[in-house]
Amino acid sequence: MGAVNGMNGKKNAAIVGFGGMGRWHWHQITKNEVFDLLGVYDIRPECIEYAERKGVATYSSFEEVLSDKRLDVIVIATENDQHKPLALAAMERGHNVVTEKPVTVSSADLDEMIEASKRCGVLFTTHQNRRWDGDFLSVKKVIEEGLIGRVFNIESRVQGSRGIPGDWRGKKEHGGGMMLDWGVHLLDQIVNVLLPDRKIESVYATMDHITNSEVDDGFRMTIMMEGGMRVYVEVGTSNFIELPRWYVQGENGTVSTPWDLSQGRIVCCTNWETAEVKPIRTAAGISKTMAPRTDDTIKEVPIPLIDSDVHDFYRNLAAAIDGKATQLVTHEQLRKVMKLMETAFESDRTGQAIRFN
Ligand code: NAD
Repeated sequence: MGAVNGMNGKKNAAIVGFGGMGRWHWHQITKNEVFDLLGVYDIRPECIEYAERKGVATYSSFEEVLSDKRLDVIVIATENDQHKPLALAAMERGHNVVTEKPVTVSSADLDEMIEASKRCGVLFTTHQNRRWDGDFLSVKKVIEEGLIGRVFNIESRVQGSRGIPGDWRGKKEHGGGMMLDWGVHLLDQIVNVLLPDRKIESVYATMDHITNSEVDDGFRMTIMMEGGMRVYVEVGTSNFIELPRWYVQGENGTVSTPWDLSQGRIVCCTNWETAEVKPIRTAAGISKTMAPRTDDTIKEVPIPLIDSDVHDFYRNLAAAIDGKATQLVTHEQLRKVMKLMETAFESDRTGQAIRFN
């Protein structure tokens, strides 16, 4: 539970796991006005040495972290399979916990963690930082403001060309694979923030194993929602030409944008009744249906840019620890995404579209 805030009014955090993401939290925490970093712990001596070289305080063991009564929160940024045991141990000792995403590797594990947080009376949440991504927030605004009319298809992709990383992400025992790595972000954005109340009807997914046979190094997933809304989520690591980050179709327009919104476009229809259509011609035929539109029947609309600040995650965390706000990333939301990912794996295994309850 929350300790008394430090002299400067900030709350106290420790980071367990001081690799790539642990270091990102260190930079974030030292930049924000709500938390101080009391120290970091990692099982790898080179990470502790790195911290010491950078002047970051360190703990000599996980037990020392657990015994630190000044802490308001422990941030767990280890490999995915370690989130559950570390989080359970911390909660049992009365600590509030933030895990990195994915919260853990199965819904059964997650249920144990939720049960522990309730039993121990501590806050437990997960760092779903991609909720603050500018590209996501802009697309969300386009959809919510009806700029392209009623939306019937949302495609969200991330594509790289370096295969799955050669670290623990390639190992099943550590909770590797791109579904747990990136799928969790893309699904959270859509089903928890963009369309939180839309009923999910079915899931169909196929996994890729191009550079790794043990875990998925990419996947394609179609989610059918009530009202005929189709959501397509794709993660690839063998894409030497990438498709847009977002491709969204509404009845009156289309959005297509890469990560960099300055390269993105929204095109809306201004006139359905076009008298003249110049057919598209190929060597073997013509088509009026697929002919490009002329400029007098469409207009380009600028993509709205949204200010966002990922520090709002920590601000909410501090307020939630004080009981002054509800945690933004809730247990139900974490559960929904975990269940969706499990359904995707089941669909891949069975080759079937699966009903989602
Ligand atoms: P990493 O391999 O760079 O770092 C993980 C660190 O955890 C390593 O230094 C390792 O020694 C340490 N560790 C492992 N077991 C430990 C234990 N029991 N006690 C203490 N330390 C332990 O991996 P990473 O890329 O930093 O990923 C870590 C977590 O952060 C993963 O869950 C990953 O999914 C997540 N992540 C999130 C984002 C994001 O944008 N939210 C981005 C990257 C990674």
